[in-house]
Amino acid sequence: MLSVIAPHLCCGCGKVGSTLCGNCKYDIISELKTVCIRCQKPCGERGICGSCRLPYERAWCVGERVGTLQRLIGLYKFERVRSAYKDLGDLLLATVPDLPANVVIVPVPTVASHIRQRGYDHTLLLARYIARKRQLPLRRLLVRVTKTKQRQASAAVREAQAKAAFAVRGDVAKNTVYLLVDDVITTGATVKYAAKALKDAGATQIWAAVVARQTLD
Ligand SMILES: [Zn+2]
Ligand SMILES: [Zn+2]
Repeated sequence: MLSVIAPHLCCGCGKVGSTLCGNCKYDIISELKTVCIRCQKPCGERGICGSCRLPYERAWCVGERVGTLQRLIGLYKFERVRSAYKDLGDLLLATVPDLPANVVIVPVPTVASHIRQRGYDHTLLLARYIARKRQLPLRRLLVRVTKTKQRQASAAVREAQAKAAFAVRGDVAKNTVYLLVDDVITTGATVKYAAKALKDAGATQIWAAVVARQTLD
């Protein structure tokens, strides 16, 4: 019904039909670069350079949160355009290669007040889409134990908040790769401590897939 009243416009070129048209999707995918998720230096396919030490072993990120990607994320996170998870998910699927069968998708849990504001759990929707398309199981192993709000926080505050943010619910298997899915990486603290919580619970392999990298101003 909503889409009849207000048809979606492409975030890149304004074409009527969807939040991201095929051409603009292709433009983003064709510009994919393998850079370190933490320091953004060019690196190998692991997505983490040799100098950055992180509690996860591989990482993928579609690109910087600018231009079309920024507008698409804005619609999804702040303008309640729920259906944009598919376009964001397709971009992530184009970035992450074929995955082995022992991968389990783990969404980075969203702050509860943000779910209430939006009416949906945006990271969960995205993670479910990835799991469905790749035919991999999804487990909500992580829970938020603090009610943090990060939008205006400084790097130091984010770090302190993220450090105490997560607990693991359920059993973690040793021969399983846990693929964390999140929408935006800023300082990297959230993904780092989400991975650390899983490691502390016994996980041996953690990978991370994130839609966009946000540079702090
Ligand atoms: Zn377009
Ligand atoms: Zn690096």
